Amino acid sequence: MNVPMLDLKAQYASIKNEIRQAVDEVLESQHFILGPSVAKLEEEIAAYSHCRYALGVSSGTDAILLALMGLGVGQGDTVITTTFTFFATAGCIARLGAKPLFVDIDPVTFNISADGLEHLLSSLSEGELSRVKAVVPVHLFGQMADMGRIVPLCKKYGLKIIEDAAQAIGSECPYEGTAHRAGSLGDIGCFSFFPSKNLGGIGDGGMVVTNDPTLYEKMKLLRAHGSSPKYYHKVVGGNFRLDEIQAAVLSVKLKYLDTWTEKRQKNAQRYDCLLSDLTKAPLITPKALPGYRHIYNQYCIRTEKRDELKSYLAGNGVSTEIYYPLPMHLQECFAYLGYSARQFPDAEKTSAETLALPVYPEMGTEVLEHVAGLIRGFY
Ligand SMILES: *Cc1c(COP(=O)(O)O)cnc(C)c1O
Repeated sequence: MNVPMLDLKAQYASIKNEIRQAVDEVLESQHFILGPSVAKLEEEIAAYSHCRYALGVSSGTDAILLALMGLGVGQGDTVITTTFTFFATAGCIARLGAKPLFVDIDPVTFNISADGLEHLLSSLSEGELSRVKAVVPVHLFGQMADMGRIVPLCKKYGLKIIEDAAQAIGSECPYEGTAHRAGSLGDIGCFSFFPSKNLGGIGDGGMVVTNDPTLYEKMKLLRAHGSSPKYYHKVVGGNFRLDEIQAAVLSVKLKYLDTWTEKRQKNAQRYDCLLSDLTKAPLITPKALPGYRHIYNQYCIRTEKRDELKSYLAGNGVSTEIYYPLPMHLQECFAYLGYSARQFPDAEKTSAETLALPVYPEMGTEVLEHVAGLIRGFY
């Protein structure tokens, strides 16, 4: 039996007519840039993320770049983030001439360690601290970072927060006693609609959300070359626009997102159960924290026999993926930052042990049990 990481063809088959109709309507209108579909999706995503404002952008990467630009991050600034993430988080900081300052992770959640962040902030000199403009927590694999501790810490030090929620649309974490959605606790939240994300377009796309009207207006300006009125440029922006076809398709898909999320959660629970007696080591299943809504963009197990297990599963037709094999502080392009191996032991150990199993919504129970059975057989 062949098991892919994701089955977008199955998803498409289930909503094909609606998608084609939505695309057709845009084609008939011949209105491709910043029209009614983008405006509609912005309203829907703002409501879905419990935020006042949303802006459709060209990708998750551009969402992060635009958010950093919106906060005025540039040459000589420092931005703190996790070393264990997709490259875009750190890449956008560096592209603006700012310096990424990395923090290790909590090995249980894969997310930035609140202890590590607190320790770093308390160890910086006043001069160093004055250059820190923002913190970018990443809600990795679909579970939010520990915002209950990160938000007060950032408030204490006067730092802005950009949530990299590219993998976490609709996820929640407890904050001051109630559940809060990804994107709503920071100054700006960033989503990606890359096809493999929980809400995926038919190409690249992304969104920024915020509750701050000033930041919203600034990012809106920057999204289209900083021009207002047209051809009069107040600031240097870029072309960070989402297009109408993507927005129309995403509006259709958004209606199904919660159902898909529930199926991912059910799959994850089934894996938890089937792999539970292997959890003492050699295999650790991912932990959904109490009060959190984990949306399982990925279901990542940890095992010291990661590479052997991956080839064994591949040999049996089961696709898996390694997110991520090398933390940011050890990337060649960041050598100039001067980090060294063993500096962030939890992220480094995780990189060597993590393996994402297929958890997509269309995956039937039989298929999932087949994968779990192979893993049990391996051990
Ligand atoms: C996917 C992703 C991004 C970038 O999104 P794109 O739409 O691919 O540009 C950024 N950060 C994280 C954590 C991601 O997973």
